[in-house]
Amino acid sequence: MTALNAAVRRALGYARLSQDRKGTSPNCQYQEDDYRVYAKDRHYDVVGSYSDDDISASKFSAKPRPGYNNLLQAVRDDAAEVLLATEVSRIFRRVLEVLEFIEIASTTSLRWIETANGRVYDLRTASGVAALIAEVNNAALEVGTTSERIKRVTRAKAKEGLFHGGMRPYGYDKDGVTVRLDEAHVIREAVQSVLAGQPIQSIVRELNQRGVPTSAGKLWTPPKLKSILTSPRLVGVRTHLGQEHPAVWPALVSREDFEQVRLILQGSWQGKKRARSYLLTGFLYCGICEQCMNGGAYYRVPKSRGGQPQRSYRCYAVNIWGAKHGCGKIRRRAEPVELLVTDLVLKRYSSPKFAEAIKRAYQDGGQDELSAYLDEAQSYRLKIHEVEDAYKAGKPGMDIDTMLRIKLDLEEELEKVNAKVARHSTGRVLAAIPAGKNVREAWNKADIDQRRALIGLIVKRIVILPGRPGKKRWHHKETDQTFAFDPELVQVEWKF
Ligand SMILES: [Zn+2]
Repeated sequence: MTALNAAVRRALGYARLSQDRKGTSPNCQYQEDDYRVYAKDRHYDVVGSYSDDDISASKFSAKPRPGYNNLLQAVRDDAAEVLLATEVSRIFRRVLEVLEFIEIASTTSLRWIETANGRVYDLRTASGVAALIAEVNNAALEVGTTSERIKRVTRAKAKEGLFHGGMRPYGYDKDGVTVRLDEAHVIREAVQSVLAGQPIQSIVRELNQRGVPTSAGKLWTPPKLKSILTSPRLVGVRTHLGQEHPAVWPALVSREDFEQVRLILQGSWQGKKRARSYLLTGFLYCGICEQCMNGGAYYRVPKSRGGQPQRSYRCYAVNIWGAKHGCGKIRRRAEPVELLVTDLVLKRYSSPKFAEAIKRAYQDGGQDELSAYLDEAQSYRLKIHEVEDAYKAGKPGMDIDTMLRIKLDLEEELEKVNAKVARHSTGRVLAAIPAGKNVREAWNKADIDQRRALIGLIVKRIVILPGRPGKKRWHHKETDQTFAFDPELVQVEWKF
């Protein structure tokens, strides 16, 4: 380097203000001061200094840089042997620019680029050029991925904030310490009801009927109430990263009651999964308010007076937890809707051409591939646990940002694999249905979940339009049944 220094004296300097991951880079004056001090140390004569403000340049469109263009002109004019900057990524934003620059410089007096930390990129050697390109490439990659990651981490943090910090805990004031007597009473009452064997759904319904709101002023749901009744906060315990500490706030219920309630509620409301009996739940939408319609028994004559239940789909004004749902204006008997939709779906499947087309659309490799995907998904799940554990154990270097960033990356990968698995399973469902006339046979043998899977492959949604059948009668050939039903009021929207 000394040999080179002895031979040349003239230098050009370049500075650029840009948006980087820490906000903005040191300003141009600071960058210039930096390389001028460096030049003085090396006895370089700075014969020209150039700068650009690149802050508003978008990632995709390179903003014109008048300073850089002037720099290029100076290089062409053989103005200097050295180009100085604080970092090469100040001079070049993309690899393409480096390549152009090297081309231009190759026929001029410019010999090398030097950065204020003492790194020298000799433009006349292959290794110098390679190092320069690699440096710019890395910087460009880093800026791209870092800003994306920062955004994702911020989003994840915001989410966490909503769930943890943001909300006033039920039973306490916003300070989290002062007890709200009325809410504390609601909690104690609910605890006693649970201990007395009342199902949580029914406690929730009662609270909503009485107009008792949650801390957010909303209606209760079983998961919401359950999360409050099983939170150690109620017994004056603060949990942090899985560990319990005595809290500053007072307990609202006794430890004994709390433990019992926790035992009773563990998995209680999701544990009892009733067998599905409505084929089209999740596919049907109300033609007035566009909310989904749910299946349920309807009593034309009240049950208490010996009325028989009628299977039907309804747009419920209030859902089973007492929360507002839809307009409540449309109800349709389930049988004719299910028969009609079944006919339409089977008709669509029975075209061999169509069946082939969607099989191709969904299929994705063979059985070996599926098990490979499942293994891959499992390995991502394990890694996610490892990262969380490392963070909880206070592993050096594993702060919350790092943990979240790694976790988000892993979760993204996991999602991709899961999507592949899903496509795979769908492909197998399809492979099991024969094309042509045998579709109905296969359908008759299928259980309700398999039928729903078949519907889901080709039906986007089904809209039930308002209106009464009047005198219209609909005859279903296969079952030889007649219904007061207007098939025109059922609109199927197809995926294929
Ligand atoms: Zn509705």
